[in-house]
Amino acid sequence: MSSLDVTNVVIVGGGTAGWMVAAAFSKILNLKKIGIHLVESEALGTVGVGEATIPHIKYFNRLAGLDEQAFLKATNATYKLGIEFVDWGKLGDAYVHPFGPYGMDMQSVHFHHSWLRQQKKGTAKPIDEFSLAGMAAKAGKFQHPRTDLQSSPMSSIDYAYHFDATKYAEFMRSVSESRGVKRTEGKVVSVKQNIDSGNIESIELENGQTIDGDMFIDCSGFIGLLIEKTLKTGYEDWSHYLPCDRAVARLSERLDELVPYTRSTAKAAGWQWRIPLQSRTGNGYVYSSDYISDDEAVATLNEGLDTAPLSEPRLLRFKTGIRKKTWNKNVVAIGLSAGFLEPLESTSIHLIQSAIARLMTNWPDKTFNQPDIDYFNRKTQEEYEQVRDFLILHYHGTTRDDSPFWNYCRTMEIPKTLSDRIAIYKENARLYREDLELFSPVSWFAVFNGQNITPARYHPLADTLDDASLELRMTELHRATQRCLEVMPQHEVYLNKVIG
Ligand SMILES: Cc1cc2nc3c(=O)[nH]c(=O)nc-3n(C[C@H](O)[C@H](O)[C@H](O)COP(=O)(O)OP(=O)(O)OC[C@H]3O[C@@H](n4cnc5c(N)ncnc54)[C@H](O)[C@@H]3O)c2cc1C
Repeated sequence: MSSLDVTNVVIVGGGTAGWMVAAAFSKILNLKKIGIHLVESEALGTVGVGEATIPHIKYFNRLAGLDEQAFLKATNATYKLGIEFVDWGKLGDAYVHPFGPYGMDMQSVHFHHSWLRQQKKGTAKPIDEFSLAGMAAKAGKFQHPRTDLQSSPMSSIDYAYHFDATKYAEFMRSVSESRGVKRTEGKVVSVKQNIDSGNIESIELENGQTIDGDMFIDCSGFIGLLIEKTLKTGYEDWSHYLPCDRAVARLSERLDELVPYTRSTAKAAGWQWRIPLQSRTGNGYVYSSDYISDDEAVATLNEGLDTAPLSEPRLLRFKTGIRKKTWNKNVVAIGLSAGFLEPLESTSIHLIQSAIARLMTNWPDKTFNQPDIDYFNRKTQEEYEQVRDFLILHYHGTTRDDSPFWNYCRTMEIPKTLSDRIAIYKENARLYREDLELFSPVSWFAVFNGQNITPARYHPLADTLDDASLELRMTELHRATQRCLEVMPQHEVYLNKVIG
């Protein structure tokens, strides 16, 4: 071991972010050499929402050594095959952003080009009927992918989970503590910085206890206790692109049929989520306080509940954007302390997991090499911007003109990165994946098409096949998807079998 090695890591905060960090670190790092100490205040509590995820969560759970059966049981979880968007493109519309492809790429071009060719000819079947994940979601069916059936649509469906965020943190806490993570209950009241470097040396708790560290992971939530209150790092505000700044959340009874998808319904000043768990449903209205009062938001949420309420409405405030540096000196902000992108595509927990992976790749020593830190910050910024653009598309790519909120979103200025992407898609339907960006062309297409944004043309190579061959292939793909759907079990039956 070198004297420069980081041997003492302190995590401030025990919400989803803090315990995800602890679970990952305790699995990957050698706890005989590196001490991990998490401090949290039960009195302050956690944000307590964050129940829908995207497929990458499976890799995190595997990396953290979580067993799927134990995890499903402990967190009241259900499977998730995608998100249904209702009333987004225009009132009366509905589409699914599925986890998994549509059809199959042909002649080296994305499937959607072949579908657009058929659409121009008037022979296309609805796009959703080429997505097994999307069809299964709406039919209330689920099973794990069959990787042994390589050419079947069954091999390529993907999935995530809905779960109880509080139980997920508790589950990861038990795993982390069993591996040697030390936890201290208490409120951090002051922070000591090195006079020369400004690095944080220790935190002090309300009871007078001092905790030293070489590196501090700020998982303290929106407040950003270390990254902002102490280091004054600054925040880039993106509210002009994503104007929702509040949410009211409320639990209700479980759905009669446990559907394997999240539903997002666009409303007059935002949108309402419905997240089905085994024993209850999570609901919330994400809205802009410029366009609707809190009381009106509560009334809208209540009107939109499908089952009887189980809790009182809870108000949450947020500001969309990103910390100017998510790694500053010897503090790395992960979770809500790093930034916030609203939960429309269930990305926050993924951004936690991705920050953990990036930190492992750039694991520092006590010199805290600035070029490494700059790289980390640049990549984090890019990742947030790419997700931000994807979210903006849902709001901006609408024809809704039934409220001042939608008039603003439809006509607002958008980032150039997104307007360029829209311009390319509108011309020839081409979709690119920038670097390692989170959302694939399939996801971008699902939203472009779902929001009724129609391209003028499609990829010229989609004309390579003659008409008869194209029709035959499309019919076969459609038939294969329907056959797979028929044999898939109902989601709840399957889930109960897995849980045992
Ligand atoms: C309305 C809404 C809906 C969301 N839905 C989703 C979703 O569907 N999917 C998704 O992926 N994400 C979602 N998110 C985001 C998700 O909730 C968060 O990313 C996730 O919960 C991580 O939060 P956190 O751990 O960073 O912060 P928090 O949960 O706020 O935890 C902060 C921790 O820091 C501690 N702390 C703070 N100050 C101190 C102090 N002085 N001393 C000691 N401890 C302190 C607190 O006690 C707590 O333990 C949603 C967020 C909101 C607001």
